[in-house]
Amino acid sequence: MKKSSIVVVGSSNTDMIIQVARIPKPGETLLGGKFLTAAGGKGANQAVSAALAGGNVTLVARLGKDMFGDQAVAGFQRNGVCVDYVVRDKTAPSGVALIFVAKDGENSIAVAGGANGKLAPADVKKAAKTIRTAAALVVQLETPLETVQAAAEIAAKAGVPVILNPAPAQSLLGSLLKLVSILTPNETEAEWLTGIKVTDARTAAKAADKLLARGVKTVILTLGSRGALIAEASGHQLVAGFKVKAVDTTAAGDTFNGALAVALAEGKALVGAVRFANAAAALSVTKIGAQTSAPRRKEIERFLKDNA
Ligand code: ADP
Repeated sequence: MKKSSIVVVGSSNTDMIIQVARIPKPGETLLGGKFLTAAGGKGANQAVSAALAGGNVTLVARLGKDMFGDQAVAGFQRNGVCVDYVVRDKTAPSGVALIFVAKDGENSIAVAGGANGKLAPADVKKAAKTIRTAAALVVQLETPLETVQAAAEIAAKAGVPVILNPAPAQSLLGSLLKLVSILTPNETEAEWLTGIKVTDARTAAKAADKLLARGVKTVILTLGSRGALIAEASGHQLVAGFKVKAVDTTAAGDTFNGALAVALAEGKALVGAVRFANAAAALSVTKIGAQTSAPRRKEIERFLKDNA
C-alpha cells in the first residue's frame, strides 16, 4: 500500500429527509413536501471526502444486510473508497437518520445507529495490517468508544498519526486522548471537552490549551467561516477560512477532516494542510448535502489557486 493511504474507522448512515412546513408536534401527522435520501454518517462522510480529495482510503465500518447497506457500499465503491473491511451484520440493520427539515431551516433528527453500534475492536483488529501501514488513521465518536480506542492503539503503537474528530460531543478519557496526534473539535465539542465556551480568539486559545494539557499533541479547533486555530505546545496559529456563499453547512467538519488527513498523509506541513482542509470545507458549504457536497481534488486545487 502507498504511504499516502488513510484508514477511517467509523459510522455509516442513510439519512432520510422530509422537507416540511414546520416540525410536526407529538402525536401529529403532517403531510410533508419533498423526500430525499442521502448517504451520511461521520465515518463514511470523512472517508468519501478523503477519497475525493485524493487519498487512498480504506473504511472500517459495519452495515446491515439490507438495501441501505447495499446502497452505501455501492456509494463507497463509486467514490473509490476500499470496502474490504466494511462488515455486513447479519442481525443489526444499517444505521439510519430520520430528519425533518422545516421551511425556516430548523430541523429535528432521530438516529438509529443499528450496525454502527456493533462495530467492534475485533473488526478493527482484522484491519490492523492496513492501519499499521497507513499514513494516517481518522476516527470519530459515532461508533463504540472501545472500538475507537482499539484502532487508536494499533495506529499509535505503529507510529501512525491518529486524527480524532471528537464528534458528536462527549466526554473522553485521558487514555484515548494520549494516543491522539491531532484532535479536531468544533466550537461546541471544544466546550464540551473543556467547559470553556468558545466565543472568540481568546476563549478558543484557552480551550485549545486545556486540551493540549490533557496529552493531545496538536489541536485544530475549527471555527466555522473563520477557519481553524492550530494549537501546539510551541504556539498558536489561526488559519483563516475562505469567503464563500454558504448554502448548506452540513458535514463541513467531515469534509475538513477528510481533506486534512489527505494533506497530512501527503506530507504537507500543518499550516498548508489546514489551508487545504479549509478550502475543501468551504467548497462543501456551497453545495447541499453531506457526501454529495465534498469536492474533488481538482476543484480544491483550482479554488486554492484562485484564492491565493
Ligand atoms: P462543524 O461542521 O463540525 O460544525 P465548523 O462549523 O467549525 O465545524 O466547520 C468546519 C470547517 O468548515 C471550518 O473550519 C471551515 O474551514 C469550513 N467552514 C464552515 N462553515 C463555513 C463557511 N460559512 N464559510 C467558509 N468555510 C466554512
